[in-house]
Amino acid sequence: MHCATIKQGIECTFMTQKGCDFTGGACRPIVEKCEGCDRVREYADGRYCNQFPDPAAKWRLGVCNMATHIKVESKVADGKVRVGQQKQKKK
Ligand code: SF4
Repeated sequence: MHCATIKQGIECTFMTQKGCDFTGGACRPIVEKCEGCDRVREYADGRYCNQFPDPAAKWRLGVCNMATHIKVESKVADGKVRVGQQKQKKK
C-alpha cells in the first residue's frame, strides 16, 4: 500500500488498512552517519531514508550495508579469496 504518514504516496510494505504497522507507527529520521548517502530523501517532516524505516538500526551493528557514501573493503588475511567452498564429507 501507499504510505499515508511520512512518505506519502510511496509504496510501502508496512502500510496496512489500519495505518503504518512499523514500530512506533512511522519511519524514523536519518542519523548523522547517513549524511552524504544518496538514499536520503527530503519530506515535509524531515529527512528520511528511502530504503529503511529505521536508519539508526542499520548502523547499530556496524556500517549500513546500503550506504552509498561509504565503501567497505574486505580484508582477507592470507590474500586468498575463497568462494563456494564445500563442506568436507564426514567419514
Ligand atoms: S541507506 Fe543506510 S546510510 Fe543510506 S540513508 Fe539509508 S540507513 Fe542511512
